[in-house]
Amino acid sequence: MKILVSACLLGICCRYDGNGSDRPWIRALMDRHTLIPVCPEQLGGLRTPRPPVEWRDGRAMDNQGKDCTDAFCRGAKEALKVAQMYGCELAVLKARSPSCGSGVIYDGSFGGRLAEGYGETARLLREHGIRVIDEEAVRDASDGF
Ligand code: SF4
Repeated sequence: MKILVSACLLGICCRYDGNGSDRPWIRALMDRHTLIPVCPEQLGGLRTPRPPVEWRDGRAMDNQGKDCTDAFCRGAKEALKVAQMYGCELAVLKARSPSCGSGVIYDGSFGGRLAEGYGETARLLREHGIRVIDEEAVRDASDGF
């Protein structure tokens, strides 16, 4: 299966803080599947490192008050383009991220609190029929992938 993956989960240093989020159990999926890494925030034109962003009142705002919504939407569209180009039916994305999070994301307070919601890329992929799960669901899956 071809799986779109948040690039940071493979150890690519594309996170806002300049680090990756290497997850060995995601890397292990490469034994059985073709993983296609993308970082929507970089694809949207944001630099690395960059200030952290959270969704507040429908806008993606960084912690210095800058509105990054356009870049987030651009990155989501580019990630969707890649997923469709490769025929991905599944995306395994980073939990809680304002781009990649699915079901739960940070609540906009920059206080580490969570709220129900989707990152822009997760939302757009789902809207186009691509199944989205986060890396923790893969770790906890009993049926394997
Ligand atoms: Fe990882 Fe997604 Fe954030 Fe890029 S946008 S660093 S892939 S969580």
